[in-house]
Amino acid sequence: MDIYYLTLFPEMYKGVLGSSILKRAEDKGIVNYHMINFRDFSHNKHNKVDDYPYGGGAGMVLKPEPVFEAMDSLKLDNKRVILMCPQGQPFNQKLAEELAEEENIVFINGHYEGYDERIRSLVTDEVSIGDYVLTGGELASMAMTDAIVRLIPDVLSNEKSHQEDSFSTGLLEHPHYTRPREYRGMKVPDVLLSGNHKLIEEWRYEQSLKRTRERRPDLLED
Ligand code: SAM
Repeated sequence: MDIYYLTLFPEMYKGVLGSSILKRAEDKGIVNYHMINFRDFSHNKHNKVDDYPYGGGAGMVLKPEPVFEAMDSLKLDNKRVILMCPQGQPFNQKLAEELAEEENIVFINGHYEGYDERIRSLVTDEVSIGDYVLTGGELASMAMTDAIVRLIPDVLSNEKSHQEDSFSTGLLEHPHYTRPREYRGMKVPDVLLSGNHKLIEEWRYEQSLKRTRERRPDLLED
């Protein structure tokens, strides 16, 4: 998979894409990350990419030309183009699973008050990572990248681990325990020490249902 980030702040991605599983996925040749600074496509001698809004009002608006020209420079036919946007569809595991099958993903990261409305004609999806407003789309596209890349085959050493994650099954995941058997008076449930795999599976499923009912009853409606 190739992932392209149209951004004014490519340096923000270094730590996240250059660490842990996202880095390993690139080292293994499963994914390539490409930074495109659309300031490089500014027509302004001071490299400005924003301007005042028509009709007046607070804040600056991202101009269309740098974003359209940055997109033209990619020369990609088959692609999902995702506009990071608090007004977009909420990001979730189902969308992460769908995007993990794409060949090319382009993230357009806004900044400032907003972007010229005509930029929307370039995109296939508008996505929000939650009902709050960030300064820019970069953190949001990094969160999405992490959720997507870990689902690509061979990225995680144990495929089963993401198949059992919260949301993948439609439920929240069951509780986990490790050694010691007892810590500060808190004991590991006996069933996990029983060695009876059928009972353990049943206990985990019941715990998943209980957690989901208590914390996210909306998931059970689906
Ligand atoms: N004025 C805009 C509004 O009210 O919808 C918010 C602009 S915000 C300060 C700047 C940029 O950050 C947005 O264009 C978007 O790219 C990104 N952004 C902010 N919050 C986001 C969220 N919850 N999900 C995804 N992207 C977000």
